[in-house]
Amino acid sequence: MNQLAQKIKELARAYTHDTVGIRRHIHAHPELSFEEHNTAAYVEQVLQSYGLETTRMAATGVVALIKGRNPESKTIALRADLDALPITEQNSVDYKSKNEGVMHACGHDVHTASLLGAARILQDLHHEFEGTVKLVFQPGEEKFPGGASVMIKEGVLQQPAPAGIIGQHVFPMLPAGKVGFRSGMYMASADEIYITVKGKGGHAALPELNVDPVLITSHLIVALQQVVSRHASPKVPTVLSFGKVEALGATNVIPNEVKVEGTFRTMDEVWRKEAHRRIRLLAEGLCESMGGSCDIDIKFGYPFLKNDPDLTGRAREAAALYLGAESVVDLDLWMGAEDFAYYSQEVAACFYRLGTRNDERGITSGVHTPTFDIDEAALETGIGLMAWIAVQELEAKTA
Ligand SMILES: [Zn+2]
Ligand SMILES: [Zn+2]
Repeated sequence: MNQLAQKIKELARAYTHDTVGIRRHIHAHPELSFEEHNTAAYVEQVLQSYGLETTRMAATGVVALIKGRNPESKTIALRADLDALPITEQNSVDYKSKNEGVMHACGHDVHTASLLGAARILQDLHHEFEGTVKLVFQPGEEKFPGGASVMIKEGVLQQPAPAGIIGQHVFPMLPAGKVGFRSGMYMASADEIYITVKGKGGHAALPELNVDPVLITSHLIVALQQVVSRHASPKVPTVLSFGKVEALGATNVIPNEVKVEGTFRTMDEVWRKEAHRRIRLLAEGLCESMGGSCDIDIKFGYPFLKNDPDLTGRAREAAALYLGAESVVDLDLWMGAEDFAYYSQEVAACFYRLGTRNDERGITSGVHTPTFDIDEAALETGIGLMAWIAVQELEAKTA
C-alpha cells in the first residue's frame, strides 16, 4: 500500500477515540431539520480548532476548505448532513438523546463526526496532496425541499466548483468495517400524491341518487397501477403506492368525497414527469367517466440519485486498496430517497454506504427506528476512507 494511505490509516486509528466523542456529543444533542443551530456552531468550533476557516450557508450549513499544494488545480467536495428526526430514542446508552422526541436515527451524527475526522486527517496532511478539499456540512436532509437544494442555490458548487462530490451514509444491513458502492442509478426520486375524489353522497340504500366516490376510488387505485405496469420501461424501477385512503362515510352512508395519498418513486427524470402527466390524465378521465371529478396535487420531492460511473469506479477501487477487496461490496438499487441526489444532478457524484452493523452485539436496527445505533468501530473506517478517497480523487487525471 502506498505511503500516504499508510499515514491516513495511522491517523484514522489515532483519531478514532476523539471521533467517537464527537459522534456521541452530536448524538446526545440532536436538532431537527433546518434547526441545527447548536450542531452547526459545534462543527464550526471543531473545524476552527483544526485551524480551518468556516463559512455559513443555508443558515445552519457550514462549509470549509482544506487547501493542499497548488490549491487551484482541482477541488473535490465531501458532504455530511447535520439533522436528526422527530423520534424518541429507546436506546439505553450514555449518549442517549437529551432532546426528548428528537433523535439521530438516520446516522447523520455519524456522517458529521466522520467528516470532521476526515477533515482533521486531511488538514494534517495538506502538504502531501495537490488541490482543495471542500467540506460541506448541510442542514435539513430529512425535510423537503432538502438542505442540499438550498446549499446549491446559495452557491455551494461554485467558488471553487468541485469536480466531484462524495457522500457516505450509514448502512445497518452491512457489518462495520465494510462499505458498499453502486455505479449509475442508485436511489429513487420520491413525489407525494394527494387526490380528492369527489362524488355526491347520500343514503347507501339509494345508489341511483348518488355518485359513489368510494367505488370510483376503488377503480382508480387499481387503474393507476397500469401507469406503472404499462407505461414505465421495465428497465426503469418504478413504484406507486397508496398508503392512505379516507372515506368518512358509514355502513349506510356514502360520503361526498374520498381522500387518497400515495408516493411515486422512480429513477429517470424524463419518465418521472411523464408519469405525473399520465397519473393526472387517468385520474381525471376515470373520475369523470364515472360521473365524479377529482382534485389532484403531485408534490415534487427529491430527484433520483445517480452515481457517476467514473468517479464511483475510482472511489470503489480506492476503497478496495484501503480496506481490502473483501471489505467492499456492490449495492443493490434502493427505492428510498436522499437529498444528496440534488448534487448528483449537477456534478459528478458518489454516494456510498458505510457498514455499521454488529450482529454479535445486537446492533441491527434499521435507520428511522427508535433503537437505531451503530458499531462505532465503523468510525475508523469512515474517517480514513473519506480522507483517502478525497486525496485519490484529487490525484486522478480527469478531464
Ligand atoms: Zn433518513
Ligand atoms: Zn440519512
